[in-house]
Amino acid sequence: MHWQETPIQTLQDPLFAQAGVEVLLKREELNHPEVSGNKALKLKYNLMLAKEQGHDTLLTFGGAFSNHIHAVAAAGKAFGFHTIGIIRGEKHEPLNHTLSFATSCGMHLQYISREAYRRKTEETFLADLKAQWGNFYLIPEGGTNVPAVLGVREMVQSIPAAYDYYCVPVGTGGTMAGVVLGAPQRVKVLGFSSLKGYFLTETVNNLFKQLNAQPTTSWQVVSDYHFGGYAKVKPELLAFIETFEARHGILLDPVYTAKMMYGLHDLIQQGVFPKGTKILAIHTGGLQGRAGFGLF
Ligand SMILES: *Cc1c(COP(=O)(O)O)cnc(C)c1O
Repeated sequence: MHWQETPIQTLQDPLFAQAGVEVLLKREELNHPEVSGNKALKLKYNLMLAKEQGHDTLLTFGGAFSNHIHAVAAAGKAFGFHTIGIIRGEKHEPLNHTLSFATSCGMHLQYISREAYRRKTEETFLADLKAQWGNFYLIPEGGTNVPAVLGVREMVQSIPAAYDYYCVPVGTGGTMAGVVLGAPQRVKVLGFSSLKGYFLTETVNNLFKQLNAQPTTSWQVVSDYHFGGYAKVKPELLAFIETFEARHGILLDPVYTAKMMYGLHDLIQQGVFPKGTKILAIHTGGLQGRAGFGLF
């Protein structure tokens, strides 16, 4: 199982120069050709555990545009597992980009109602799935569990110590937890929430509890840049993606990385960071999701 070393790239922008801050981007979207981004990092130790435990099948959950479903399907194909994707909601034909890719990797898709989907962590529900599909290695929605956090932590520990801040987008919080646990003590971690609401701090704290880990760095979830909620966009966000790509030649996804970079630009503009601050943002991938917004 091979995850590539990814480059750290300096971003040149008159806004950063004026504010006297340095912004660099860790290009984790390049860590694996098909699996890609934080979903690849989160899968690494899950795939190793599944192999160790003698499993030949992975089962997981997600929405129809899920980066995680895409990643599990690709990982199954690349590393020799059967894969089953339990998809929230009804089947729509023709299949969208995410699900047709998953199917092309050999993933079996099962659609379940939103009500049934809410029961996805219940024992009886999982027992029914076992009766139907046979034994499998279960990966939760979004891929967040203890091995996932450890995979992210490992990547973050490999980053040379040179920064004051790490920035990362937040969905289920697993990636943020790994970034906080892998960061040197002096680094502050900002997580930009892609969801509406203020529950994510608690979610991340619960992951620390499960890991029996005490974070030594300071960290904070920023909740001001969700653009209306999960997978919601506004024209200014789409315009930002275009400008960013034109300036840096780097693609962003509208659900996660664009909201983080937009938020970071805004905080810099507000003068939140003192001159001389060195910021490393982590590109978590998700580019497969662009197709669902008409971006290619
Ligand atoms: C899933 C995802 C996230 C959020 O990761 P969590 O561990 O669920 O918080 C961030 N960025 C991208 C591109 C993702 O696909």
